[in-house]
Amino acid sequence: MTETIIVPCAHCATLNRIPSAKRQAQPQCGSCKQAVFTNQPFALDTATFKQQSKGDIPLLVDVWASWCGPCRQFAPTFSQAAEQLSSQCRFGKLDSEAHPALSGELGIRSIPSLLLFRNGQEIARQSGALSLTQLLSWLKQHGVHN
Ligand SMILES: [Zn+2]
Repeated sequence: MTETIIVPCAHCATLNRIPSAKRQAQPQCGSCKQAVFTNQPFALDTATFKQQSKGDIPLLVDVWASWCGPCRQFAPTFSQAAEQLSSQCRFGKLDSEAHPALSGELGIRSIPSLLLFRNGQEIARQSGALSLTQLLSWLKQHGVHN
């Protein structure tokens, strides 16, 4: 029996079924043929958000805006975490200015905000920026680690 996991493609949001053992072997998306996992944060939008929050690999969402200084300062930390946890967690960025309706739906009151999803459900939320160490330890508390 091969255990499989469901993972939305970072590029086109198609749900891919992948043997769990192969997730670190850079699996290709069945639809767009690009790598399902990326080790860089990718942009989320209203059209793809629901689909991207699904699946067995958690999605960490950084809600930000270009006018927000703390958000810009936090961006490199978020990217570093994405590099370190490439196939354990997926890192999406939601521009709250470009997608105000979705931010409202998610109940965002301040930015930066971090929201962790698994299988389409929010499992944790954190307001305010964190250091890389704090971010990795917060993720670990919620079962995300290498
Ligand atoms: Zn794809």
